[in-house]
Amino acid sequence: MEAVSKNHSGIFFQDLTTLQRRILSRIRDEGASTRDQIGEYFGWDRAAVSRFVGPMLSQRSIISDPPGYRRRNAKLSAAPSLGWAIGVELGFRMARLGIVNINGGIEGVPLELTFAKPEREEIQVRLNEAIARLTGEIPSQAFLGVGVGYSDRTMWSNPQTRLAPGITSEMFRDRSSGNPTDHHFHWESDAACAVLAEHRYGALKGYTDGLFLLYNEGIGLGILSSGKPVLGHHGDAGEIGHLPVSDDGDYCYCGNVGCLETIASPWALVDKASRVAHSTGPFGQALQSSITFPQLSTMAQNGETFPRNLFVTAGRALGRALAISATLLDPSIIVVGGLIGERNSNAILLASTKESFRALGAHRISKSISITESCLGNVAVLTGAAEFVISKALAFPRP
Ligand SMILES: [Zn+2]
Repeated sequence: MEAVSKNHSGIFFQDLTTLQRRILSRIRDEGASTRDQIGEYFGWDRAAVSRFVGPMLSQRSIISDPPGYRRRNAKLSAAPSLGWAIGVELGFRMARLGIVNINGGIEGVPLELTFAKPEREEIQVRLNEAIARLTGEIPSQAFLGVGVGYSDRTMWSNPQTRLAPGITSEMFRDRSSGNPTDHHFHWESDAACAVLAEHRYGALKGYTDGLFLLYNEGIGLGILSSGKPVLGHHGDAGEIGHLPVSDDGDYCYCGNVGCLETIASPWALVDKASRVAHSTGPFGQALQSSITFPQLSTMAQNGETFPRNLFVTAGRALGRALAISATLLDPSIIVVGGLIGERNSNAILLASTKESFRALGAHRISKSISITESCLGNVAVLTGAAEFVISKALAFPRP
């Protein structure tokens, strides 16, 4: 990845006044705004808009398209080089990290780390190294912080071992004369990050109420309500992977019985396939005992009976969970992302999910709720994690 610093225009986010940040924040909320739209929002006449916007154009903190200081209908947008945040998607066995500019664009190719075991110490050390490497590419005046979208809070919530303070003290010791500790970090569930990213930049743009089904190592639901992501009191809103959907199902690693994840998650499907692989029946003999989720998915797509049935059953459970969620939350659209859908060679799972959602919700749920695939794909979580940091920086200017 090229150092991002060479792209900067000379002005950084930290150099802006509070009013300039408010203007930027408004422009970002809309994606881009004309001068008239800015005037209307702030209650300014054209002369006032010019007085405030002119200096921002000349300092290149905002960009005009087409270029020109006085074009009335030009679209004004934030200069992407004003600031960068690091976005992190943190799963049990993988992490994906990227440098995200103020307009949600990712610089270069995201880093991917895989972990042989979900061991906190190893993950912490390697993540610290990767974050330090990316932070080193960002000019310190333009560094907005690190956002982490985690797949399971319980792994990190012990204050003794919590990742964020460890990284903070290690990384920022010499980076600033101030006291840049907690406000440099933002932690949120991965599904909440994904729903925020899709709302800002993807399939949920323009919607106020929508859901994001994140089907990864675990299963989570991002909830967008009245234009804002719903986080919950403990930050656990939308943890639908642990909805108890069956009284007599398998035990879950969370300690409960019959959680959605025990029926429909990738780890549960691999587990079920491994159990059958150890049997002597015809389907068992066709499976390897070390089968992986992508292999299972390919076999299902090829029409092999047992893997196909696994995905159809999983989809039924996902559709049920979505029908329950939609009944509670009344979204206008549902977006799915992760290891589900056409793009991830998992069309069977998506088709079964949709069918079950329609059947179970038929009397209660509007037929107009569409189920669509994520626009941002595998960078949705890291983009949203960074977006939490960027929005926070714009909303609460540092002294
Ligand atoms: Zn559970």
